[in-house]
Formats: sequence, structure tokens, C-alpha cells
Amino acid sequence: MIPFAGNTLDRVSEKRTDAKWIESKRNDPDSLVFPLWKLQPFLLGRDGDPPPYQLGLLEPGIAEDVAGDDAICIFLGLDGDRALFALEIPDAKDPTKEGPLARRGFFRDARAAGSMVAIKDAGIIAQAKAMIDWHQRHGFCPKCGARTKLMDAGYRRLCDQCNAEHFPRVDPVVIMLATDGEACLVGRGKLFPQGMFSALAGFIEPGETIEEAVRRELYEESSVRVGEVSYYATQPWPFPSSLMIGCFAKALSREVKVDENELAEVRWIERKVARQLIEGKRVDGILVPPPVAIAHHLIKAFALGER
Ligand SMILES: [Zn+2]
Repeated sequence: MIPFAGNTLDRVSEKRTDAKWIESKRNDPDSLVFPLWKLQPFLLGRDGDPPPYQLGLLEPGIAEDVAGDDAICIFLGLDGDRALFALEIPDAKDPTKEGPLARRGFFRDARAAGSMVAIKDAGIIAQAKAMIDWHQRHGFCPKCGARTKLMDAGYRRLCDQCNAEHFPRVDPVVIMLATDGEACLVGRGKLFPQGMFSALAGFIEPGETIEEAVRRELYEESSVRVGEVSYYATQPWPFPSSLMIGCFAKALSREVKVDENELAEVRWIERKVARQLIEGKRVDGILVPPPVAIAHHLIKAFALGER
């Protein structure tokens, strides 16, 4: 399973418009509230303890004390009968320094946290982080500029002025390995750590299919033309709201020419090298992303001969 996929909460989307039900769950002492401060999820325990960490889920009363009335609160879903909410902790000093969260746990960047918790919990982090992030960036109507307000337990915003409705976005990104027999194509972004190579990727553009985006991005970034494109897996990637669509593509040629605006280098690596890289070994100064990234799983599937 790929981190940030595998959220097991029942989203019961039909309940979101039932304001009375949402309010009763919000005040139910059996419900749990997941705080995020500066978009960082709260984890229980001491930073440095051996993983996996538990999500820092709080009783509703405690969460209120930390957040205040205007904080963004999102209904995430049900775990059995128990409701889970995500709650924005307004930017101020670190709430773990004093008050009800002191000595309970710590806040951690969502990307790092995704590989510090159990898979199903990483999925909850993805949902909570992406949702609160979206609300923080959509306080004003893109149509008329007036203020918008949170509706439907967080799954809609409504403009007070022109009544335009706005819904949380997911931005599709293709991420793909071109393959040719015993080799696959990887690239190094200009801002990547030294030696890090990954699958090539790019946003799908309006009016474009997944397959067309895969072919276009590979050609733009590496000059490699590909034929057949096949789907592998997807991964929610809440930075801020992407859905990574992992694909393989059959290369029609091996000649590469890097797009210097986007990448520092592209190169073909042999399957036997890929096998060592996914074990975390550095080969000829190259390394590949860790398992928190879907690129790791694409390279692994190729290395193990699944593609
Ligand atoms: Zn408006």
C-alpha cells in the first residue's frame, strides 16, 4: 500500500448537509478531533520515539480550548459509530509549549508524518491536510471577490454576495516511468537532493486525457516518445491538493534530451540497478525517493519485473 492512500473512514457524504446531525456529532463526547497547526498534523508521544506514531486525536472539549470559535472544522467521516473531525489550530505560538496539548505530542510536517504513522492514518492526514489547506486559500470568491463561508461540514464554500458555490479541488498529476525492455527512464529535478532521481511527472492540462498527458510530459521533459500507456496506481498527495496518477509507458526510442527548464538530468537505468536502488542503496551516486512517494513504488514494480 502507498502512503496517503488507504483511508478507511466512512465519509458518509449524505450526512454533510444535515447540519443538526453534524452539530450533534461535533459535541458528542465520543467523537474525536484531529488538530492541525500550520497544516501540520498532531501526533501523540515524543518526537524521536520509534514509529509508528498514533494520530493526535482529542476529545472535543480539549480541542475547543486550543482552537477558538472561528477555526476551520471539517467532518472527516465515521470510524464505526465514532465521528472524526479535522480542526485548524490558528497560527500562533506552538500549542504544545503550554496548555492542554503540552506533553501529549507534537506537530509534524504532513509529508514526514505520512511515513511515521500506520497506512490508514496517513490517509486521514491526507484528507485533513488537503481540506484545511483548501479552506485557508478560498476565503474569497474567485467570481466576485466577496467573502465565502464554509458549508456542508467543509465540503462546499458559498459566496455571500453572488451565491457562487465552490468545491474542494483535486488536481490530477501524471507520474510515469517510460520503459524499454530492461531499462526505465528517470530524471533529476533541479531542486532535488544530490543524486536523487525519480519518475517524471507533470500536471494534466484542461482538455487532456491521462494518456495524452503522459506522452506530452515525457516528450517535453526528455524528448522520449512513448506508445502504450498503462495505469498502475494512484496516490493522494496533499501538497496542496494533487492526485498522483502512476503510469507506465512503452518507449519508442531511447535517445534523450533533457528539458533544462525543468530538470537537471534524465537517464535510463537498468532493471538490476533499479533493484538495488529500491533497497535504499546508492549506485553510481544515484538514489531514488523513499516509499512515501509513489515514484518509489513505480520503480519498485519495474525492478521486481511486474512491468
Ligand atoms: Zn461571489
